[in-house]
Amino acid sequence: MIQLSSLFLFLSRRRWAYGFLSFIFALSIMLSNAQPTRAIPWIELFIRGAQIYQLSSISDKQEVELGGEINQELIKSGQAKIYRNKEITRYVNQIGQRLAKTSARPDIPYTFQVVDDKNVNAFATMGGYVYVNTGLMLKAENEAELASVIGHEIGHIAGRHAIEQMRQRAISQGVLSAAGLERSQAVQIGVELAVNRRNSREDELEADGFGLDNLQKAGYAPSAMVSFMKKLLQQGNSIPTFLSTHPATSERIRLLQQNIDSKTANVGNGLNSKVYRNRIRSI
Ligand code: ZN
Repeated sequence: MIQLSSLFLFLSRRRWAYGFLSFIFALSIMLSNAQPTRAIPWIELFIRGAQIYQLSSISDKQEVELGGEINQELIKSGQAKIYRNKEITRYVNQIGQRLAKTSARPDIPYTFQVVDDKNVNAFATMGGYVYVNTGLMLKAENEAELASVIGHEIGHIAGRHAIEQMRQRAISQGVLSAAGLERSQAVQIGVELAVNRRNSREDELEADGFGLDNLQKAGYAPSAMVSFMKKLLQQGNSIPTFLSTHPATSERIRLLQQNIDSKTANVGNGLNSKVYRNRIRSI
């Protein structure tokens, strides 16, 4: 099996080798596993020519492709109603691309979309797909506050959090085989996670760290990340979904403040709320 796994590593970068590898794996299971019931799905998958994702070693290209499929399904199923306003979409994409360039993961393509939803929320799937609700855009005081949320979502992608969550969900649903996760199952889990995602404390804090660093490197004033969270916290009972999970927002604010130099907190772009209001006036 050692030889087989190094063969897999060597060949896994080559697309043409996929079917061949599936066949080898299926054969190895047939030969080494006395229980024929375990071998059957492998062979079925091979015959059906199914695309299988090995989540623990998924390539950037595969991740982007999977993100694109999840995106299509989110839109097709009506679970993400894309706000079709070119001016607003262009504006959010412009902020997003500026951040992506200085992010912890600049080498994949990013797609930023606005969701027609008055709830204050934002989310990301995988492979560079980030979504911001119109409600969140209206709530932000300025461009830097909006950028702080987008930076946080890019942070989840940089940390590959959705992939790990997908892996865990697939294990708990019993759909992850040794060959990996079949494409349609992966898309289904990806959509579920996008709509109803509970990030762990570690993931949230890591995304905050990546986000703050990204915000500053892109030239935005870092104070915006704290001011936006404070504003949402002050709303009291209607804390938005993306902040409602642990760690508590107050803890996140405290940790962010520890990492912001008070002398340069307001140094940077994006604090002019008049300019921002003007840019988003058509919402
Ligand atoms: Zn988050």
